[in-house]
Amino acid sequence: MLRLTIFVLFTWLVVMPLDAAQNQISGLRIAPGSDKTRIVLDLSAPPQFTYFTLKNPNRLVIDLADTADTADLSVQDTGALVRRLRYSTPKNAESARIVIDLNHPSDPELFAIAPSGDYGHRLVVDLPGKSNVSGTAATSSVLIDSANNTRDRDIIVAIDAGHGGNDPGSIGPSGTYEKHITLSIAKKLGAMFDAEPGMRSVLVRSGDYYIYPTKRPEIAREKKADLLISIHADAFSQPEPRGGSVWVLSMRRADSELGRWLEKTERHSELLGGAAEVISDNASERYLAETIIGLSMDHSMSASYDLSEKVIGEMKQVTRLHKRAPQAASFAVLTAPDIPSILVEVGFISNPQEEKNLLWEEYRERLARSMFNATKRYFKQAPPDGTLWASYKERNRQHKVRSGESLSLLAQRYNVKVSSIKEANDLNNDVVRIGQVLTIPST
Ligand SMILES: [Zn+2]
Repeated sequence: MLRLTIFVLFTWLVVMPLDAAQNQISGLRIAPGSDKTRIVLDLSAPPQFTYFTLKNPNRLVIDLADTADTADLSVQDTGALVRRLRYSTPKNAESARIVIDLNHPSDPELFAIAPSGDYGHRLVVDLPGKSNVSGTAATSSVLIDSANNTRDRDIIVAIDAGHGGNDPGSIGPSGTYEKHITLSIAKKLGAMFDAEPGMRSVLVRSGDYYIYPTKRPEIAREKKADLLISIHADAFSQPEPRGGSVWVLSMRRADSELGRWLEKTERHSELLGGAAEVISDNASERYLAETIIGLSMDHSMSASYDLSEKVIGEMKQVTRLHKRAPQAASFAVLTAPDIPSILVEVGFISNPQEEKNLLWEEYRERLARSMFNATKRYFKQAPPDGTLWASYKERNRQHKVRSGESLSLLAQRYNVKVSSIKEANDLNNDVVRIGQVLTIPST
């Protein structure tokens, strides 16, 4: 469930000039300070703007009328409050919509400044809130390079290979280390995303070394990931259990028997961030508090659940499943409040047959492919704002099914393949119902 709180302020600062020359963003500066972050947009003409804030995730949306949205918005040092600046779909072709993604809620103040001295027209955005650690203000600025438009950015998928270094993870009956299996699958999965237009992977761990579990979602956030997939292989004290499972975050204790076992075992002890454990750690306390008040949690959790169901759907074509529904647990690696995150247990390395399977490269390739296909299906339905996939979706047409219409009829009318319509709408069969809104992919 996505909860939205919208505050709308509407401000016309100037009367629109008669010649209505399109406004250009010619510069961007950001200064994260001890009590607020100031963002300044340099403009070729006085700005006409409206803005509103949204929650889950927190962001400020600014609509600039009669303004080109071609300037580069990428800034390196945004401070702790601002996560990034980007464009989103504008209200109309003449306007620009800028979205400022925030790590915390902030009550913004926006005002325009007339030219003075070396400066031209400016729009100032003040975001109250602690935005740096040291308390000293640092300004980073970029000169606008209109050739470098970050609007159609790649979807970034962070892939976390479980364990590593001194932590081998589970060990199979013939001596196979979980850490090697997870890294191999992570690398294969990463290569698939990198080969897909509009997608890119980030490996949280790219070699055989250890990263503390709570650090893993932080790495995903630093890399501005849209999604985190953590890969593990299960183990049990008996050789019988087998099959994969997919886990999403639960703030409650996991209630399945296996979940309880996992929470007790030393092997996963560091991976687990049960609420009591995390809250005793001072540095994590604020982090957890934010998580609990659920600033962006609702969205991340429903997105994670949606994706985990798709992963299960794909994985069951490759391997048997230990659990047919997504499982919920309090793994530390799943606690990023703003990034949908799932943990995939690819099978039981403690089961001799599954250990053998996991040692087979083709099998690891198939597992990676199933996660890749599921992730593609997920993002096809819900592409993040500002991505190439989002702009593809915008170009697609919508069709509301009327009585007597079938998929083949619609395919004929729009001159697209039945299979493309099915893929665009994630349909498993040819049945459509009256009133259903279908996305018709562009040819
Ligand atoms: Zn593991």
